[in-house]
Amino acid sequence: MPISHVHGYLRHIMEECASDRSGAVADYIPELASVDADGYALSMCMHDGNTYSLGDVGVEFTIQSVSKPLTYALALTRLDVAVVDAKIGVEPSGEAFNEISVDERRRPRNPMINAGAILASSMLLPPVRSLPAAAVDEAFDELVEFYSGCAGRYLTIDEQVYASEAATGSRNRAIVYMLDSFGAVDTDPEAALDLYFRQCSLRVTSDDLAAVAATIAAGGVNPRTGRRVLSNEVAQRLLSVMTTCGMYDGAGDWVTSVGLPAKSGVGGGILAVLPGQLGIGVYSPRLDQHGNSVRGVDTCRRLSRDLGLHMFNVT
Ligand code: GLN
Repeated sequence: MPISHVHGYLRHIMEECASDRSGAVADYIPELASVDADGYALSMCMHDGNTYSLGDVGVEFTIQSVSKPLTYALALTRLDVAVVDAKIGVEPSGEAFNEISVDERRRPRNPMINAGAILASSMLLPPVRSLPAAAVDEAFDELVEFYSGCAGRYLTIDEQVYASEAATGSRNRAIVYMLDSFGAVDTDPEAALDLYFRQCSLRVTSDDLAAVAATIAAGGVNPRTGRRVLSNEVAQRLLSVMTTCGMYDGAGDWVTSVGLPAKSGVGGGILAVLPGQLGIGVYSPRLDQHGNSVRGVDTCRRLSRDLGLHMFNVT
């Protein structure tokens, strides 16, 4: 299809979805509550790295929970898969993203909910309780390097969001101390939390999310830079947990109606992957009751339906 046709079609989808002003922006910290609620961007990165970008593609927003598959990937890359599996399950929880819950082995049910994500972050720190002062900075540098490799450009932190997340994170603090009481945290729990808050506060655009999605779609090679940043095995693992757990307690509805491995964040971003083909990044900050972008979900639903992107498409 000529480029202008693709653009025209994507613009048409955005026009249809833009009238939906339902949902509400995250308001647990002032920085998220004050974003432009009408912001809306859509990017599609093809297997050759070509990207179609429409709407507010210049707007940076915080990655929030879209960071979870990336930190999980980094833990899987650095540590043995069995070591990660012993600590974090891969079962959908059917619960909210910030639920204080573990399985019968006292493991967080999966790495896409906060409990599993904070534990994955903890695994990037040295396994000692009393950490050297620079340990979180060093782990964060490595994390940023990795995320940036997936996005194909250098990502930076939103310091205000980070400060607010750290100041208001009682629920996440409760989660890490609960896990610590089970003996699951090998490092300083506060450091693990600090690293998690920093990763959530990284700034991205819809183009970045599309590039990350396309990298996972390509089995770990960033199609824009040609660099391998993930192994095929890790990419396959990500696609699996994103399919079953990426949209929290909205995962079943998402898989049924959209049928793409995906991850959402309360910053309003959604990353969706068509394995072997392309990556989608959407941004729109009004969220539904699960914490997923309302327009983002609707946009992906329409794309999937119109273009036959559902991974179980049998027509
Ligand atoms: N920073 C948020 C939290 O930890 C991220 C949650 C999300 O995006 N769903 O609560």
